[in-house]
Amino acid sequence: MPFQQKPLNLAKELERKFPAEVLSTLREVGKFASQMGMTAYAVGGFVRDLLLGTPTLDIDIVVEGNGIALAQKLAQMWQADLTVHERFLTATLQWRLREPKSASTHAPIHACTLSRLDIATARKERYPKPAALPEVEPASILDDLWRRDFTINAMAICLDPKRFGELVDPTGGFNDLQRGIIRVLHERSFVDDPTRIFRAVRYEQRFGFKIERKTLRLICHARDESLLTKLSRDRIKHELWRMLQERDPTKPMRRLSKLRILPVIAPELCVTTKRLEWMRRANEWLNWFAEKFPEKRLEREWALLLTLLPNAKAMDLFSQRYQLGESERECGLALLKALKRRTPKRPSSWVRWLNPLPLEAALVLAAKRSLPNDPLWQRYFLEWRWARPDITGEDLKACGILGRSISVGLQAALAVKLDEGADASKQLEVALRRAQRYRTSRR
Ligand code: ATP
Repeated sequence: MPFQQKPLNLAKELERKFPAEVLSTLREVGKFASQMGMTAYAVGGFVRDLLLGTPTLDIDIVVEGNGIALAQKLAQMWQADLTVHERFLTATLQWRLREPKSASTHAPIHACTLSRLDIATARKERYPKPAALPEVEPASILDDLWRRDFTINAMAICLDPKRFGELVDPTGGFNDLQRGIIRVLHERSFVDDPTRIFRAVRYEQRFGFKIERKTLRLICHARDESLLTKLSRDRIKHELWRMLQERDPTKPMRRLSKLRILPVIAPELCVTTKRLEWMRRANEWLNWFAEKFPEKRLEREWALLLTLLPNAKAMDLFSQRYQLGESERECGLALLKALKRRTPKRPSSWVRWLNPLPLEAALVLAAKRSLPNDPLWQRYFLEWRWARPDITGEDLKACGILGRSISVGLQAALAVKLDEGADASKQLEVALRRAQRYRTSRR
């Protein structure tokens, strides 16, 4: 931990850790709030991560006063897009022309610019019944911090020009951060909002912290009282997906399983040491692929879950439970089918085996059969999957080939290119021979 004593003012830390542009944005937020008779604070994960020495550009601002009015003023001044959620007293500013922040939350800060700012009115919450969404009303920053999930997330930094950098820590978050402890703020925390159970596990595993003893008891109690079943499927899915987006998703999944929470929310998931190892490798393959092809979108969370779903029935149950689409289900079934085949020798057989699979399934299969630095598998994803013959259907048509025979011929051309490195004229020769043979066989 990079600090020993509780710092009362974090202005120097902010200056050290953030580029001038971000720092001046924070100062301006404080200044304009003050001119409007309000006080602005940076809160939550932003403060926690700064104190942990891993600063983030996910900046949440809370305002004592009217957060939406401040957001409107700033959006107009900075020509940013504004989205307002009146009911929740929140607003989001977005800069469309700026480069989006790097996809990884762990990218170095100096490499990013601020592309979004969340601004909320400081508020109190009241839970009309367990696990329901809260009713909110404007309040002080202290009320706002006391409604939060854990002490380490319940700190604020004042942005007012006269108090810039002052740490506000009413719940002992700084001490818990230093001791590596996840602690709720009151006994009813998980009754009010059982999604906090997932959040506790996520932070514990991400930071290598420990859930404090009493908090752990409350989690087990909430589980035994079936509080999780009061949550909507959507909210559970959202939390599960967030776990799967962690740098090492196997850690929270293992912990959820040990706490006997996974069987409550998804009994069809089969969590064994072997399957978690498969998931860990799948995650590495997905990372490898995302780095090589940043423009391709992958359904990472579903790909990772496939490693824990042992058969078609489990996949069906899970997809129904969380209302996944037909494409996810088909991806899973294609994987199960492809898993039955042995890894072939010739590149053309790899293409026939893996190209019909969605990328996610092919990467999960790669994780089952190899390590992410396996050159043969890398070659498949970098080269073979995208390879096309050097001749086209038009070339075959010009030689009198028609209909389905064209695709048969092109497949043969690709095979001879991949397996033997044949040039275009050899490919054409092989394609014509194969297409004619196909045509004769169909007569
Ligand atoms: P992460 O790095 O996981 O995004 P974060 O702290 O930024 O962490 P968010 O989910 O963006 O997490 O939430 C922002 C802040 O809002 C949290 O730090 C916490 O103070 C508060 N918060 C979020 N969800 C809850 C909840 N369910 N109950 C109480 N407070 C919450």
